[in-house]
Amino acid sequence: MINALSMPCAVVTAVGVGALIAALRRDGYRVIGPTLRDQAIVVDTIRTLDDLPRGWTDHQEVAGYRLQRRDDAALFGYALGPQGWKRLLHPPVQPLWQMADAAGEPAASPPETERLAFLGVRACELRAIAIQDRVFLGGAARDPHYAARRAGLFVIAVNCGTAGGNCFCVSMASGPRVESGFDLVLTELLDEATPRYLVECGSDNGAKFLATLPKRAAEETDLAAARAISEATRASMRRAMPAGDHAALLRANPTHPRWDEVARRCLTCGNCTAVCPTCFCTAISDQSDITGRNMARERRWDSCFTSEFSFIHGGSVRSSGRSRYRQWLTHKLSTWVDQFGSSGCVGCGRCITWCPVGIDLTEEVRAIAANPTAEESRDDNA
Ligand code: SF4
Ligand code: SF4
Repeated sequence: MINALSMPCAVVTAVGVGALIAALRRDGYRVIGPTLRDQAIVVDTIRTLDDLPRGWTDHQEVAGYRLQRRDDAALFGYALGPQGWKRLLHPPVQPLWQMADAAGEPAASPPETERLAFLGVRACELRAIAIQDRVFLGGAARDPHYAARRAGLFVIAVNCGTAGGNCFCVSMASGPRVESGFDLVLTELLDEATPRYLVECGSDNGAKFLATLPKRAAEETDLAAARAISEATRASMRRAMPAGDHAALLRANPTHPRWDEVARRCLTCGNCTAVCPTCFCTAISDQSDITGRNMARERRWDSCFTSEFSFIHGGSVRSSGRSRYRQWLTHKLSTWVDQFGSSGCVGCGRCITWCPVGIDLTEEVRAIAANPTAEESRDDNA
């Protein structure tokens, strides 16, 4: 599917967005989008326009997130919730096979056939999906469960109209304007009494749905307003990853004393890996019932912050918080490039918002870059 903005665009109202949700549902898609739950904006099943977080925004800071009321009726007037789309394409628990009789044959869990439509995907999140495509589909071992979910996916992206307090996508060249990877992209225009939405197509399937909506042709004023929103979002982004070759920097500094400093704060809770839209590590476990006749194997999200994650032949290779944080950050920004040809970070800032002690990876990189020849700390792997 899907690429550059080469097809006609149009303008719809919120009624048109509601009509799009209805049309996708009639066509058999399960629409997933932003909704309010547990004092956060999370992604879940959307049935009507009323499920969207109309008039709400999120305030994000280091180790902080809270909802706030807006003074308008924006449907997409927030930055990013704690959950990415990862949990839909690469769910926290994936059944692999079951065996209903100990003497029988294991039956592989079939891949999902439900077609998903994602509503509200941001530019950095599209980049994260492209990175996970590379991980799950780009190598010799394709993941059939991910492939099945991905194959039927319809993507409605949204250009960001506000930069979250921890966003740094501009410095990672992954936002704030959506460039590719969508069927439709919306820009929410709030310069009139009621919101309107510039809709641009990225695929024939997107054009098919756009054709069914109540709309008018886009005018130059709509296009100019959309460009201004992306520029304002870009200009208001306060955080940035320091410029430079992060891969080389981290490769050259495995014993930098900053690793000790960050380890004094890190709780090794794994929150950062859970919220990160590109982290993909898993563990496999087998379950059986009390009779021992019914068994199942499943794959669960894992985290490089647990001691079990690097347990091999009688012990954990990374037994300290220092070595685990270093492993996470070095993989994200350095060895990920060797493995998959890109950075593993898209600048969404979730790991900064949801780290309970406020560790900020941009500050960690900045500290190492500021003094890359600092006296080495103890050179252990533990
Ligand atoms: S960096 Fe923060 S979120 Fe990540 S494991 Fe350490 S304390 Fe938890
Ligand atoms: S490392 Fe942090 S900022 Fe980068 S993609 Fe993951 S959660 Fe987002």
